[in-house]
Amino acid sequence: MTGPLVFPGEEVAVEEEYVAAEGTFAENGIIYASQIGELELDDEEYVARVRSHNPPNILEVGDIVYAVVADIRNTMSTADVVGKAGVDRTLGGETYATIHVSKISQGYTDDVSKELRKGDYIRARVTAVKPALQLTTKDDRLGVIRSFCSTCKTQMERKGNGLFCPECKYSCPRKLAADYGNVKIQ
Ligand SMILES: [Zn+2]
Repeated sequence: MTGPLVFPGEEVAVEEEYVAAEGTFAENGIIYASQIGELELDDEEYVARVRSHNPPNILEVGDIVYAVVADIRNTMSTADVVGKAGVDRTLGGETYATIHVSKISQGYTDDVSKELRKGDYIRARVTAVKPALQLTTKDDRLGVIRSFCSTCKTQMERKGNGLFCPECKYSCPRKLAADYGNVKIQ
Protein backbone atom coordinates (compact mmCIF):
# COMPACT_ATOMS: atom_id res chain seq x y z
CA MET A 1 0.00 0.00 0.00
CA THR A 2 2.30 2.75 -1.22
CA GLY A 3 1.16 6.09 -2.45
CA PRO A 4 2.72 8.86 -4.48
CA LEU A 5 6.03 10.45 -3.56
CA VAL A 6 5.50 13.77 -1.81
CA PHE A 7 7.81 16.56 -0.73
CA PRO A 8 8.09 18.66 2.44
CA GLY A 9 5.44 21.38 2.51
CA GLU A 10 3.24 19.64 -0.04
CA GLU A 11 -0.47 19.53 0.82
CA VAL A 12 -1.47 15.90 1.29
CA ALA A 13 -4.87 15.88 3.01
CA VAL A 14 -7.35 17.90 5.09
CA GLU A 15 -8.00 17.55 8.79
CA GLU A 16 -11.72 17.06 8.17
CA GLU A 17 -10.86 13.67 6.71
CA TYR A 18 -7.58 12.59 8.26
CA VAL A 19 -5.42 12.92 11.37
CA ALA A 20 -1.86 14.10 10.78
CA ALA A 21 0.60 11.35 11.76
CA GLU A 22 4.27 10.55 11.14
CA GLY A 23 5.93 12.62 8.47
CA THR A 24 3.19 15.24 8.38
CA PHE A 25 2.00 18.36 10.17
CA ALA A 26 -1.30 20.19 10.21
CA GLU A 27 -1.89 23.91 9.82
CA ASN A 28 -5.25 25.67 9.49
CA GLY A 29 -7.02 22.44 8.70
CA ILE A 30 -4.59 21.38 6.00
CA ILE A 31 -2.17 18.47 6.41
CA TYR A 32 1.25 18.89 4.84
CA ALA A 33 4.18 16.54 4.35
CA SER A 34 7.11 17.31 6.64
CA GLN A 35 9.53 14.97 4.87
CA ILE A 36 10.13 13.35 1.52
CA GLY A 37 8.41 10.02 1.31
CA GLU A 38 5.47 7.97 0.17
CA LEU A 39 2.07 9.30 1.09
CA GLU A 40 -0.19 6.85 2.85
CA LEU A 41 -3.83 7.79 3.43
CA ASP A 42 -5.17 5.18 5.80
CA ASP A 43 -8.92 4.98 5.27
CA GLU A 44 -9.48 2.63 8.19
CA GLU A 45 -7.78 4.69 10.87
CA TYR A 46 -8.30 8.03 9.07
CA VAL A 47 -4.63 8.79 9.39
CA ALA A 48 -2.32 10.56 6.93
CA ARG A 49 1.33 9.52 6.97
CA VAL A 50 4.41 10.14 4.90
CA ARG A 51 6.72 7.18 5.14
CA SER A 52 10.36 8.07 4.81
CA HIS A 53 11.65 6.98 1.43
CA ASN A 54 14.99 5.73 2.69
CA PRO A 55 14.83 5.28 6.45
CA PRO A 56 18.14 5.11 8.28
CA ASN A 57 19.26 1.60 9.21
CA ILE A 58 18.73 2.05 12.95
CA LEU A 59 18.36 -0.96 15.22
CA GLU A 60 14.99 -1.67 16.79
CA VAL A 61 13.84 -4.03 19.53
CA GLY A 62 13.37 -7.49 18.01
CA ASP A 63 15.97 -7.11 15.27
CA ILE A 64 18.31 -10.04 14.73
CA VAL A 65 21.89 -8.80 14.52
CA TYR A 66 25.43 -10.03 14.04
CA ALA A 67 28.02 -8.85 16.54
CA VAL A 68 31.57 -9.45 17.70
CA VAL A 69 32.16 -9.98 21.41
CA ALA A 70 34.37 -7.14 22.60
CA ASP A 71 34.84 -7.80 26.29
CA ILE A 72 33.83 -10.20 29.05
CA ARG A 73 33.01 -8.85 32.50
CA ASN A 74 31.58 -10.32 35.68
CA THR A 75 27.93 -9.91 34.95
CA MET A 76 27.88 -9.09 31.26
CA SER A 77 29.56 -9.13 27.91
CA THR A 78 29.97 -6.21 25.57
CA ALA A 79 29.74 -6.57 21.81
CA ASP A 80 30.07 -4.48 18.67
CA VAL A 81 27.09 -4.92 16.40
CA VAL A 82 28.34 -5.22 12.82
CA GLY A 83 25.11 -5.74 10.92
CA LYS A 84 21.42 -6.48 10.91
CA ALA A 85 20.33 -9.85 9.53
CA GLY A 86 18.94 -9.52 6.03
CA VAL A 87 19.97 -5.88 5.65
CA ASP A 88 23.00 -5.19 3.53
CA ARG A 89 23.52 -1.62 4.69
CA THR A 90 25.75 0.18 7.14
CA LEU A 91 24.19 0.62 10.55
CA GLY A 92 23.41 4.09 11.79
CA GLY A 93 23.12 4.94 15.47
CA GLU A 94 24.46 3.02 18.44
CA THR A 95 26.35 -0.23 17.79
CA TYR A 96 27.98 -0.75 21.20
CA ALA A 97 25.86 -3.29 23.02
CA THR A 98 25.77 -5.21 26.27
CA ILE A 99 24.52 -8.72 27.00
CA HIS A 100 23.66 -9.34 30.62
CA VAL A 101 24.65 -12.71 32.08
CA SER A 102 20.95 -13.60 32.54
CA LYS A 103 20.31 -13.04 28.82
CA ILE A 104 22.98 -15.35 27.41
CA SER A 105 21.63 -18.88 27.59
CA GLN A 106 18.40 -20.72 28.33
CA GLY A 107 19.95 -22.47 31.31
CA TYR A 108 21.22 -20.80 34.45
CA THR A 109 24.68 -19.33 34.11
CA ASP A 110 26.70 -17.19 36.48
CA ASP A 111 29.94 -17.15 34.52
CA VAL A 112 29.93 -15.17 31.28
CA SER A 113 33.33 -16.58 30.27
CA LYS A 114 31.81 -20.09 30.02
CA GLU A 115 29.35 -18.83 27.41
CA LEU A 116 31.14 -16.23 25.31
CA ARG A 117 34.72 -15.23 24.58
CA LYS A 118 36.28 -12.10 23.21
CA GLY A 119 36.32 -12.20 19.40
CA ASP A 120 33.39 -14.62 19.04
CA TYR A 121 30.96 -13.87 16.22
CA ILE A 122 27.46 -14.05 17.55
CA ARG A 123 23.90 -13.84 16.31
CA ALA A 124 21.69 -12.03 18.82
CA ARG A 125 18.37 -10.31 19.25
CA VAL A 126 17.95 -6.68 20.28
CA THR A 127 16.02 -6.43 23.57
CA ALA A 128 16.44 -2.71 24.24
CA VAL A 129 17.72 0.32 22.38
CA LYS A 130 17.27 2.92 25.12
CA PRO A 131 18.98 4.08 27.23
CA ALA A 132 21.55 1.61 25.90
CA LEU A 133 21.64 -1.10 23.27
CA GLN A 134 21.07 -4.53 24.85
CA LEU A 135 21.13 -7.97 23.26
CA THR A 136 20.15 -11.51 24.13
CA THR A 137 21.46 -14.82 22.81
CA LYS A 138 18.82 -16.80 24.71
CA ASP A 139 17.42 -18.89 21.87
CA ASP A 140 18.52 -22.00 19.95
CA ARG A 141 19.19 -19.93 16.87
CA LEU A 142 21.16 -17.36 18.80
CA GLY A 143 24.66 -17.47 20.22
CA VAL A 144 28.14 -18.02 18.81
CA ILE A 145 28.22 -18.71 15.08
CA ARG A 146 31.98 -18.58 14.53
CA SER A 147 34.97 -18.59 16.85
CA PHE A 148 38.73 -18.76 16.52
CA CYS A 149 41.13 -20.31 19.02
CA SER A 150 42.64 -17.60 21.21
CA THR A 151 46.01 -19.39 21.13
CA CYS A 152 46.52 -20.51 17.52
CA LYS A 153 43.70 -18.64 15.70
CA THR A 154 42.38 -21.82 14.09
CA GLN A 155 38.65 -21.89 13.57
CA MET A 156 37.09 -23.79 16.45
CA GLU A 157 34.97 -26.86 15.72
CA ARG A 158 31.74 -27.78 17.39
CA LYS A 159 32.01 -30.55 19.97
CA GLY A 160 28.81 -31.36 21.81
CA ASN A 161 27.60 -28.14 23.36
CA GLY A 162 31.05 -26.57 23.26
CA LEU A 163 34.01 -25.88 21.01
CA PHE A 164 37.20 -27.77 20.22
CA CYS A 165 40.48 -26.53 18.74
CA PRO A 166 41.80 -29.20 16.34
CA GLU A 167 45.34 -27.81 16.68
CA CYS A 168 45.65 -27.28 20.42
CA LYS A 169 43.41 -30.27 21.22
CA TYR A 170 41.43 -28.55 23.91
CA SER A 171 37.73 -27.98 24.33
CA CYS A 172 35.79 -25.31 26.14
CA PRO A 173 32.14 -24.55 26.81
CA ARG A 174 30.22 -22.00 24.77
CA LYS A 175 26.68 -20.75 24.09
CA LEU A 176 26.51 -21.90 20.49
CA ALA A 177 23.87 -21.13 17.92
CA ALA A 178 22.28 -24.30 16.55
CA ASP A 179 23.94 -23.71 13.18
CA TYR A 180 27.43 -22.95 14.49
CA GLY A 181 30.00 -23.52 11.74
CA ASN A 182 27.46 -23.44 8.90
CA VAL A 183 26.84 -19.72 8.83
CA LYS A 184 27.94 -17.52 6.00
CA ILE A 185 29.13 -14.31 7.66
CA GLN A 186 27.80 -11.31 5.79
ZN1 LIG B 1 44.25 -23.63 19.01
